[in-house]
Amino acid sequence: MDAVHAWKSWRVSNAGELLSLDRDAVWSPGVPFRATCGRDPVLFSACSEPPGIKCICGVHAWKHESKARASTPPGAVFGIVSLWGHVVEHEHGFRAEFAYPYDITVPPTAADNTQLLSQMLRRTYIVDVTCE
Ligand SMILES: [Zn+2]
Repeated sequence: MDAVHAWKSWRVSNAGELLSLDRDAVWSPGVPFRATCGRDPVLFSACSEPPGIKCICGVHAWKHESKARASTPPGAVFGIVSLWGHVVEHEHGFRAEFAYPYDITVPPTAADNTQLLSQMLRRTYIVDVTCE
């Protein structure tokens, strides 16, 4: 199956690794990020194969750049993410089982030294990085 390309935002750790916006999940360089179901297994049964159809788990990504850009807080970056495996499409985006950054855009709000951050991300993830 071909990968789906969509848009996503990430925070950046002090070590220069991408982190999910909504939790401290590290996107390790060079390996696919695999979604886990965050549902409390005591209250609900977690999805055996995220993303579950009736759940909200999975790697979330937007269909349009404008949505990703608008949801990128200060200190964060955004870019195109490759999604594959089980991918659920919804109105504004996707939830996916596997993901890896395809390219990264470093907006002026990302860091004091955006050039340095761009170089670090390019070296770490081996993807194109644009410094705005
Ligand atoms: Zn789930």
